[in-house]
Amino acid sequence: ETPRSDAFVFFGATGDLAYKQIFPALYAMQRRGHLDMPVIGVSRSSWDKAKLVQRARDSISQHGQIDEQVFSGLAEHLEYVSGDYQDQDTYRCLRAALGQARRPLHYLAIPPGMFDVVVRGLAQSGCAGEARVVVEKPFGRDLATARKLEAMLTETFAPGSIFRIDHYLGKEPVQNLLYFRYANVFAEPIWNRHHIDSIQITMAESFGVQGRGSFYDGVGAVRDVIQNHMLQVVSLLATEPPPAGHPDAVRDAQCRVFQAMCPVLPQDAVLGQFQGYQSEPGVAAGSRVETYAALRLAIDNERWSGVPFFIRSGKCLPVTATEVLVKFKPLRHAVFDTTPSNYFRFRISPDVLLCVGARVKLPGEAMAGETVELTAHHQAADEMSPYERLLGDALRGDPALFARYESIEAAWRVVTPLLESGAAPLPYEPGSWGPKQAEGLTAAVGGWHDPKPPDSKR
Ligand code: NAP
Repeated sequence: ETPRSDAFVFFGATGDLAYKQIFPALYAMQRRGHLDMPVIGVSRSSWDKAKLVQRARDSISQHGQIDEQVFSGLAEHLEYVSGDYQDQDTYRCLRAALGQARRPLHYLAIPPGMFDVVVRGLAQSGCAGEARVVVEKPFGRDLATARKLEAMLTETFAPGSIFRIDHYLGKEPVQNLLYFRYANVFAEPIWNRHHIDSIQITMAESFGVQGRGSFYDGVGAVRDVIQNHMLQVVSLLATEPPPAGHPDAVRDAQCRVFQAMCPVLPQDAVLGQFQGYQSEPGVAAGSRVETYAALRLAIDNERWSGVPFFIRSGKCLPVTATEVLVKFKPLRHAVFDTTPSNYFRFRISPDVLLCVGARVKLPGEAMAGETVELTAHHQAADEMSPYERLLGDALRGDPALFARYESIEAAWRVVTPLLESGAAPLPYEPGSWGPKQAEGLTAAVGGWHDPKPPDSKR
């Protein structure tokens, strides 16, 4: 048992991530009685505690009704330290604000260019000793910078104290991918190349860069979501069965999948850019950054040899939805027909569904059938958001749902040929499913499966 952190410090308190995710997560923890420690925001703006509390209120009220009793409990914990991260005084003020706390959790919700400055400041001021640190994604910009970042972090923090966050790993329906596979007798025996024809993952967004053009233009779809979220989902879909009861068994199994992924060559990918992207504020004229990426990934092991994993993500697509489609091969011996129509469809967001595609007989004289979907809806009354879950885990020192460094490094290796190809992305019309050329990737498996909007039947 590792001791629980005794303070929560978040750098980037005035920023976008704090507003969208951290305040709501802290409020939810307070509501459950899980937050009994100082909560200290640190950034440059010359705010004070009252301004931070107001910001927290604005953020939380975006997500629903505020319970004033819960909120005042949270407000009591909040403190604000104003200062530049380059300035050693900032860390002296932080050390003072920490009071008796000796094992803070430091959350780096800041531009990645500031990671080493802050870590150095923490080390030099005695704020890092027994502390834990949460590092936001993307972890590095490529293989070389990820290695550098890891080396920098391990100079100051013990390996078990570094938490590389990927909020996809904290999502209920993503955890269900693993649970479903290993909790159902009918799943695991067919979960291999003998029965699975192909796997598709689509993460579609109907919106563009939403005013964050200058951030996005330094990143692009491959770095923003493929190298991390999408490949983490693949790793869960593709693991070997982990032994039960070993805390790190799933991460070990995921790590082996990452290491078996083949680098994606430019001929197995299509990169796109929606028309109009270059006129977004903050985007460079002539930008070659991709807002869309589709690719075919191979996993080089006995279970997956020959089974293509298709991954696609893009902005300004027709819907906002994330789905996984596991398509099975047709029956070898056809009594009735050989239509390849069995599949599992896992809808990850915005709504959560698990659908099984099955053939059933149509009423009538003929032994002829149709494909139906058996659907389970997931409705949770009091679900933890991924950030609430992951912050709670990090405070307890539980790394199970955080990315392993070896996996991150392997994931960078997978996308390196794409990052280095230098090819200009193909233009596509906003509201379309991306460049037409992407259709070629999935032609052999019957095309892409396009997720529907939440209110439609399918
Ligand atoms: P952001 O809105 O630009 O916020 C940056 C924060 O860092 C601000 O609070 C800013 O303080 C502070 N800061 C920057 N330089 C500073 C300095 N020299 N001294 C003191 N404070 C300084 O960034 P963000 O969108 O929240 O993203 C933060 C991290 O989360 C990034 O690593 C990003 O990749 C990651 N992330 C973000 C999202 C998201 O939805 N936003 C999602 C996933 C991951 P001032 O405002 O006071 O200057």
